[in-house]
Amino acid sequence: MSTLVIKDLHVEIEGKEILKGVNLTINTDEIHAIMGPNGTGKSTLASAVMGHPKYEVTSGSVTIDGEDVLEMEVDERAQAGLFLAMQYPSEITGVTNADFLRSAINSRREEGDEIPLMKFIRELDNKMDMLEMDQEMAQRYLNEGFSGGEKKRNEILQLMMIQPKFAILDEIDSGLDIDALKVVSKGINEMRSENFGCLIITHYQRLLNYITPDHVHVMMQGRVVKSGGPELAHKLESEGYDWIKEELGIED
Ligand code: ADP
Ligand code: MG
Ligand code: MG
Repeated sequence: MSTLVIKDLHVEIEGKEILKGVNLTINTDEIHAIMGPNGTGKSTLASAVMGHPKYEVTSGSVTIDGEDVLEMEVDERAQAGLFLAMQYPSEITGVTNADFLRSAINSRREEGDEIPLMKFIRELDNKMDMLEMDQEMAQRYLNEGFSGGEKKRNEILQLMMIQPKFAILDEIDSGLDIDALKVVSKGINEMRSENFGCLIITHYQRLLNYITPDHVHVMMQGRVVKSGGPELAHKLESEGYDWIKEELGIED
């Protein structure tokens, strides 16, 4: 088992404090969901953990099995087993999807132990079938001209091929029609294992009808203010966030 620990994390953007002491512990074998109103710092948390240069960690720690993640370069974080699906995946010109995946997989393996090409192609075929993706997508340049739904499916394909220890999925459900949502959820559910832990960031509880999280957290004003089980997501869906604000005496 591996554990990702975020402890009292404070993060600033351009001198403004956005995260004000986030605490979160995620074990492999667990799926966590973070919900919360817009602008409360959910994406900031994802970006800070992945080492986006714009986000300055002013105090606190992030560790995987005790290893300091904040000391690592972005590519080292990926090698340590972290995976981040961006809210707005970027286009990378000149690199095909398949090439990108193969080098991402191999960068986590020892030299001389690269994934055999045929095995890679077989796995890629299988997973693309499962995600109901057109085979032609493998040879397209990364994210170039992908529709919103294709990008999201492609992120799940990346997740399934790269097999990270921990994934942070930021609004993987936004802009998806119901069929795409089902496919994306199927992929994430398929990933569930004792070697995989996941943090799903979502604005809506809709996705959580298809993926049952083990833990649900509410983020407000740069902190995790409440944690519970799947029932918490249902309560938020029906009652919104006001009751939490009242409970905690938070002003808007
Ligand atoms: P959420 O994902 O919960 O909607 P964000 O983490 O995106 O919230 O944003 C939290 C706060 O940080 C917001 O007030 C937002 O305006 C600000 N913020 C986020 N990213 C940037 C940025 N790159 N530059 C300046 N301010 C930002
Ligand atoms: Mg906690
Ligand atoms: Mg966000």
